[in-house]
Amino acid sequence: MEPIKVTKTAEPKQLPDFNDLPFGTYFSDHMFVMNYVSGEGWINPRIVPYGPFELDPSCMVFHYAQEIFEGLKAYRTADGKIQLFRPYENFKRLNNSGERMCIPAVDVDFCVEALKQLVELDQRWVPDVENASLYIRPFVFATDKHVGVHASHTYTFCIILSPSGSYYKEGINPVKIMIEDEDVRAVKGGTGYTKCGGNYAASIRAGEKAAAAGFSQVLWLDGVHRKYIEEVGSMNIMFKIDGKVVTPELQGSVLPGITRKSILQVAREWGYEVEERMLSIDELVESIDAGKVEEIWGTGTAAVVSPVGMVAYKGKEYVINDGKIGDLTQKLYDELTGVQWGKIEDKRDWIVPVC
Ligand SMILES: *Cc1c(COP(=O)(O)O)cnc(C)c1O
Repeated sequence: MEPIKVTKTAEPKQLPDFNDLPFGTYFSDHMFVMNYVSGEGWINPRIVPYGPFELDPSCMVFHYAQEIFEGLKAYRTADGKIQLFRPYENFKRLNNSGERMCIPAVDVDFCVEALKQLVELDQRWVPDVENASLYIRPFVFATDKHVGVHASHTYTFCIILSPSGSYYKEGINPVKIMIEDEDVRAVKGGTGYTKCGGNYAASIRAGEKAAAAGFSQVLWLDGVHRKYIEEVGSMNIMFKIDGKVVTPELQGSVLPGITRKSILQVAREWGYEVEERMLSIDELVESIDAGKVEEIWGTGTAAVVSPVGMVAYKGKEYVINDGKIGDLTQKLYDELTGVQWGKIEDKRDWIVPVC
């Protein structure tokens, strides 16, 4: 790759109040951009002032949604340093998503270096308050000026940075989740395992319905039988049933979360039996009725480890662990956030320092 050309902003913005940060609303001073041109590869890597793109109305992404993205965070440690959590995993997954969506692969090591350079330049945007961090959004979209379905020959890759607080207004307090039995998010053979914008577009209707009914999110069932539990749309889902950690297996329609993978590794290290398998809604309801479902939590970069205090299915509400955060959920939350914020030693080589 060519060296990264840096153009600094002449007008640095005012920082938002880090003690009262919404999620994904403020953006930093700069962004990283590079372009793909077929025959030439990824070219013109640059850091430029944050700002709008100029795009032709026929630009392919507007019509056929050939687009993928990632989400990760930079954390400020107590001694003022900045670090990333497993960033290589994100760019590898971006390439897996790209393979499905016919978007050309990026160089993983180069992207991590570019990200480090961007975060270092915009380091004053990494919050230094509890539970806030710098959310990082890499994304790639098709830019051919052409109305007609084919793989684009040109793409833009971009990374933007957003200082953010808790994803859910509840913070670490348990969320309520509605089990969706009409709309489906993904099917095997589709794009469920990728982070593509289209998956989210298809999920919005159910999400709106759930929000109107007072729920934070939707729990998706499989698209074929509407029977097996899949995930929560921006989080993977885990259950403590009879002492064991149970989570849906990765069979093509579930997003392979990096938080999921990390939490399962920690649970196994701690001696928990972990089952990655199909779990039907009937089995879940029976287990809840039998008092065996001790805890439910979601995992994701944005939501971290998020306790689920209640699930609703077909109009019936099931309260989990008296609506309180469970002991294991709390322990997993403490371990993961401890490593991310540098309060606990990184024994697993998950942390990449920035500056
Ligand atoms: C991003 C995402 C997750 C969580 O993945 P992490 O790598 O843990 O952030 C879960 N489900 C869906 C649909 C997602 O897009």
